[in-house]
Amino acid sequence: MRLALPALFLFAGVVGAQRPARDWPIHSTQRPQPPVVRPGGMSSIFPPSDAIVLFDGRSLAEWRSESDTTKPARWAVRQGHMEIAPGTGGIQTRRGFGDVQLHLEFATPEEVRGSGQDRANSGVFLMGRYEVQVLDSYGNVTYPDGQAAAVYGQRPPTVNASRPPGAWQTYDIIFHRPRFDRGGRVTRPARVTVIHNGVLVQDDVELTGPTAHQARPPYEAHPARLPIGLQDHGAPIRFRNIWVRDLEGR
Ligand code: MG
Repeated sequence: MRLALPALFLFAGVVGAQRPARDWPIHSTQRPQPPVVRPGGMSSIFPPSDAIVLFDGRSLAEWRSESDTTKPARWAVRQGHMEIAPGTGGIQTRRGFGDVQLHLEFATPEEVRGSGQDRANSGVFLMGRYEVQVLDSYGNVTYPDGQAAAVYGQRPPTVNASRPPGAWQTYDIIFHRPRFDRGGRVTRPARVTVIHNGVLVQDDVELTGPTAHQARPPYEAHPARLPIGLQDHGAPIRFRNIWVRDLEGR
């Protein structure tokens, strides 16, 4: 019987971690912190033959400025990666995408500054409105639904598979866009799977709507193809090896 009580707590913890997103207040610090998992060795995944290469380490030609889509992206390109030029604003793909398999690699600055949400924050914005958080979450506690690989404001990753500042990390994201009927009502919510550094952290998770700060807005009907965005949140985060497989029209 001596084992019963800890076992009960363990069970409660597991159940707690799996409560649906909408059962937790947004950015709740009471939400369980995802356990830390040390990822295995780094391996880049080179683009398969049917991928659209969005960044090959040399050119930002597939990207444009988010605030003025007639202008090119103003982030720096050097030595095989792009780097956020803080204050120049987010960038987005010139092409639109719906359902995708997306691979990208990022590195937060080696020099650690700030804490919580202020430590090397960026984000991958699917269709410009559904954010998979990019953050330095290595030994950096924040609200769980805002840490690296969270569906921002909705769903923490199941585990924290972050690498240290300065190290290259991978995201492999499978995203299915929401579907709407002719009246603009959502008939199928968006779903996302995220593999962070080779570790599954979001398993076909249903989104409650667009992601936002301190809000969970409802779905609003939008086009079937929209750009993928990368956020400028004031930190010089690097990206490389970005490619996408368009899962529609196959
Ligand atoms: Mg962000």
